Amino acid sequence: MPPVSVIEASPPLISPPMTEPEVPTNYVEWVVKNQKPLPPISWSNWWNELNRLTLAILTITPAISIYGAFNVKLCRETAVLSVVYYFITGLGITAGYHRLWSHRSYNASKPLQYFLAMAGAGAVQGSIRWWCRGHRAHHRYTDTELDPYDANKGFLWSHVGWMIVKPRRKPGTADVSDLTKDPVVRWQHCWYVYLILAMGFLLPTVVAGLGWSDWRGGFFFAGAARLCFVHHSTFCVNSLAHWLGEKPFDDKHTPRDHVITALVTVGEGYHNFHHQFPMDYRNAIKWYQYDPTKWFIWACHKAGLASHLKTFPDNEVRKGQLTMQLKHLRETQEKLTFAPDVNELPVISWESFQKQSVTRPLILIAGFIHDVSSFVDEHPGGRHYIAKYIGKDATTAFFGGVYDHSNAAHNWLSMMRVGVLHGGMQHGLDDKSVPPSQRLRIAQYKEIMAGNGSSTSWTDEEGIL
Ligand SMILES: [Zn+2]
Ligand SMILES: [Zn+2]
Repeated sequence: MPPVSVIEASPPLISPPMTEPEVPTNYVEWVVKNQKPLPPISWSNWWNELNRLTLAILTITPAISIYGAFNVKLCRETAVLSVVYYFITGLGITAGYHRLWSHRSYNASKPLQYFLAMAGAGAVQGSIRWWCRGHRAHHRYTDTELDPYDANKGFLWSHVGWMIVKPRRKPGTADVSDLTKDPVVRWQHCWYVYLILAMGFLLPTVVAGLGWSDWRGGFFFAGAARLCFVHHSTFCVNSLAHWLGEKPFDDKHTPRDHVITALVTVGEGYHNFHHQFPMDYRNAIKWYQYDPTKWFIWACHKAGLASHLKTFPDNEVRKGQLTMQLKHLRETQEKLTFAPDVNELPVISWESFQKQSVTRPLILIAGFIHDVSSFVDEHPGGRHYIAKYIGKDATTAFFGGVYDHSNAAHNWLSMMRVGVLHGGMQHGLDDKSVPPSQRLRIAQYKEIMAGNGSSTSWTDEEGIL
């Protein structure tokens, strides 16, 4: 036995703060309450509240494109270049800005990072750092005042409004320290103005000019018009993807899944999945769904340019799907009428049942007394078979003694219940007493606990789980 020494009270490893900090229970509510927003947009202030640079980019680019469409001939090579360059610059945003830098859903080699940073600059949507800071806030504070493109403020707001008007509030806090340290992100941020001119306009113009002498076409179509399409393609992720489609994984927020959104956003259309599993390198999880960004990342992985492609465990993904399916089933269940609750039916003695059967057609089946007056003439087996059991126990006859009735017949019969026979069968323990439509039900956990829960049912012998 080692000698027992007296241990002196040592200071705690982490000393408690001198004063309790003000920890808000809900960060968004706390910010909304404590930080004053800019005044609302009105007729008197709207001109000063415009973000003029963004407004200029988003109006001059389509104006140049429309001028080009009417005044410059589109040749086939330039048309192909425009489409290809649309996908290259689109992938700069989706595979680069979004899935690589905002969500870190895979690791990219340096050459791939520089390619995506340059391609993303060609989409003229701000630097990686600025873009990802807003996007991370969008994921943290989806559909709240601190979400920079809050979908609850309307389609137009989430599409372009939030960029054209100076934001009324700063987006919620989001950690971008990893990006601040990232050399490629810093390089792009530093050279951003030159990069957008070079990648947005110069490169497509030079490719078409030197390639097939279509300098003007290169500028107007592969430059301006392509840029217009890339802009609105990305903007649709904030607007259309929060507005059109289904919510197969979760319905807490606005994001939705739709193939049309996927088609117009280079595969970012499965946005309900994305908001639930943002670090997954996929947007579409089924092989036949349109997600060229996923295919591109996968191809880069095969080529040795990308690694550590992240996917959420399939078990967790399917849990989300199951929850939504159960919710839909519950809605269907709530629209239907089922047999009256056994606890709400009167308990009737055998004598009373006999007496009442003289004045109304009552039949006993599986311990329940049924009033068959509305059905006696409708009985597919004929009136006779029902009439002969009035005032009697027809349990055996109903369940096969005379005819083994269908589940539908059993369900319908349960709707005619008017009472429970005193001393009849123990209800709820026998298939005969539970109609087939009620053997499997969708129940809220609170309802299950209210029925079964007792303080000991969840504990072992020592009262600990
Ligand atoms: Zn979103
Ligand atoms: Zn995202």
